[in-house]
Amino acid sequence: MENKTVKQTAKAPPEQALNQFGKNNQLKEYHEKRDFNATTEPQGNKRKKQNQNKIFVVQEHHSKRLHYDFRLEHMGVLKSWAVPKGIPESTADKRLAVETEDHPLEYAEFEGTIPEGQYGAGTVTIWDEGNYETKVWNENMIEVTLKGKKLLGRYVLVRLKKGDDKNWLLLKGK
Ligand code: MN
Repeated sequence: MENKTVKQTAKAPPEQALNQFGKNNQLKEYHEKRDFNATTEPQGNKRKKQNQNKIFVVQEHHSKRLHYDFRLEHMGVLKSWAVPKGIPESTADKRLAVETEDHPLEYAEFEGTIPEGQYGAGTVTIWDEGNYETKVWNENMIEVTLKGKKLLGRYVLVRLKKGDDKNWLLLKGK
């Protein structure tokens, strides 16, 4: 009969050991792309208080090509899309929104210049920010009600199934 002790040495499973910032390693890609000795972007160490309203932000990002980064708080990170032509202002507009890596929550407050040679080099300013409510959130469709300073009301993201999985359409709801 084996007399194996159930209690093993407390050792984090590999996926946790890899990530000092969060147990699910959601920010792995974010960290891999950046040198935090060079950029002033946040590393994402902070935890959010419970029961606060969910936040969204749109950041105007003058990098190689101007685009608007649309970010929605979801499960402890900012789900992110790069929208080259900006957030639609009319229900007739359909804008390509390319899914990018999850960002830490405190990125919603980031403004500044990412130095030359760094990922996303260029200036970032907050174009709009506020809270939002989720109507639908599934693999292929997200519908939210934004309460920002500029953006108010329903917005819908629909994943384009054909072609690149990371491509979505961003629409303004009626
Ligand atoms: Mn960007």
